[in-house]
Amino acid sequence: MLYGLKLIGVMGGHGDGANAIPNEYAVTPELAAYREGTAMRQLAAALGEIPGVVNLRPEATDISWAERARRLHDAGCDLGLELHTNWSINSKTGKPNTGVFLVIVAMHNPVHGKTEQEAMAEQLFAPLAADMGMRLEIRTKDGTGGGHDWYSFLDACNRRRVPYPMIVEHGYHPDFARDVAGNTAKAVARWHEIAAQPAPRGARRLLVHAGVYADRAAAAAACERARDCGYHDAYVHTRGGVCCARCALHDNIAYAMDSAQTVARKTGLEAGIIITAEEEL
Ligand SMILES: [Zn+2]
Repeated sequence: MLYGLKLIGVMGGHGDGANAIPNEYAVTPELAAYREGTAMRQLAAALGEIPGVVNLRPEATDISWAERARRLHDAGCDLGLELHTNWSINSKTGKPNTGVFLVIVAMHNPVHGKTEQEAMAEQLFAPLAADMGMRLEIRTKDGTGGGHDWYSFLDACNRRRVPYPMIVEHGYHPDFARDVAGNTAKAVARWHEIAAQPAPRGARRLLVHAGVYADRAAAAAACERARDCGYHDAYVHTRGGVCCARCALHDNIAYAMDSAQTVARKTGLEAGIIITAEEEL
C-alpha cells in the first residue's frame, strides 16, 4: 500500500435518504434524485471491495461519532475516512457552490500532528480531486476553547488514537450528483491505486516513470514536473548510465498501466513501466 498505510476504514456520513438538494436547485433528474447519505453509503460499499479497505458502516442508518471511532480503532485502521458531499449557497451569486473537494484533517491528533495530517491528505486526495475536475482544499479547525478538534468525528477518533482520521467532502452535492456512477468509479480507481495489495517478498515490482533520460538534469526536471502534477514522491533513479523519473510503484500490471497513463496525461511526458525484482529497487 502507498504512503506506509496498512488498513483503510471508510464510512458513509449520515444515513440513507439524508440530505437532498433543495427543490429550487434540483433542476435535473440527477440532481432531484440525489441523496448524500445514500450515495456515500454506496460509495463506502464500493470502496470496501478493494483489498486493504474496509467499509465499517454497512448499515443504512447513521451511527454516533463515538461508535465510528470505536469501529476504526477495533479494526486497527491507520486511516479512517468519513465520506460526504457538501452543500452551501454562495452569498454573492445566490447559487449553490460547486467545484471544491474538501478534506478536513485533525489539528490535535495524538499520533500525527497537523502538518503530517495535511501532507497525508494532500498526497491521498490531490490526484482524485484533479481527476474529478475540482480544486482540493485541506482545512482544520480548533474546537471552542482550544486543545481539541472542532469536528466531533475527528475529536472522537483522536480520543481513540486513530492515526489519520479525515472528513472527506467529495465536492458539493451538485458536483457528485451530476455523475454518481462516474464519480464513484474515479474514487474506486484512486483507492485501488493506493491500497493495491502488497506483493509477496521477492516478487517483481512495477515502477511507473515519467520518462527515461540520458542525463540526470533532464530526469530531475521531469521529477519536478511530476511533483507539480501531484506525484510528490517522484525521484531520480540512475542505473547503468540511464536516469529515470520514478513516480509510483505497483505490484499489479493493470494498476501500473493505469498509473502510467495517468502520469503521461498529467505530466505530458513519455511515461512508462519498468519491471524489476523487489530486491533491486
Ligand atoms: Zn455530509
